[in-house]
Amino acid sequence: MPLTREAVELLVQAARALYFEGNQHGLRDREWMALRFLGRANRFSRTPTALAGFIGATKATASQIVKTLEKKSYLSRKPSHEDKRSVVLCVTAQGEKCLSQHDPINHVLNAVASLGTEECIKLRDSLSRVLNHLDATHQRLNASICRDCMFLADRGPATGKGRATAEFICRLYRAPIALEETELLCTSFERTGDRPKINEQTDRERVAGQV
Ligand code: SF4
Repeated sequence: MPLTREAVELLVQAARALYFEGNQHGLRDREWMALRFLGRANRFSRTPTALAGFIGATKATASQIVKTLEKKSYLSRKPSHEDKRSVVLCVTAQGEKCLSQHDPINHVLNAVASLGTEECIKLRDSLSRVLNHLDATHQRLNASICRDCMFLADRGPATGKGRATAEFICRLYRAPIALEETELLCTSFERTGDRPKINEQTDRERVAGQV
């Protein structure tokens, strides 16, 4: 038990980079969390409702955060291709630059990357199992990447023009998913027990690219 406690205390200390008083580079911690999420989310999750769920805020608070990020030109709204009544929140080039240069968690990313690929994969898998356990005891996982989701399926052999770029299909949204989209976060994610669809080489490429 002392070892368990020590591990959890270290985890909490690492997570402190996420929460702070006041602001860093003009954004409060929740605004950073929102910008970071929107920079990594797929097209189904870049909505005000999904954002509110991810950051654990009311829709009114999430809407205020979106306005702040828009004012700073870090975010823009575009009509959704999936649902004409909704909007998709898109991180602008300026927002991406701000994330890459000033995101408070960049120090943690660099520290984890310095562990090397194998350790990084082990850490990812261990934390993933911990979160699965929390998920099973009622604290649901907020979001994870498409490639590990039970709704992701192979699309089958290409037969038409539009199929060249869509290797997969989402069985929940009944929509095509391109290979590069399988690395993005989704708030409708449901974990699958196996990981057969995309080979482990992608893990190594992700660690190398620190994505
Ligand atoms: S396959 Fe899963 S993670 Fe991917 S878009 Fe569909 S619900 Fe979201």
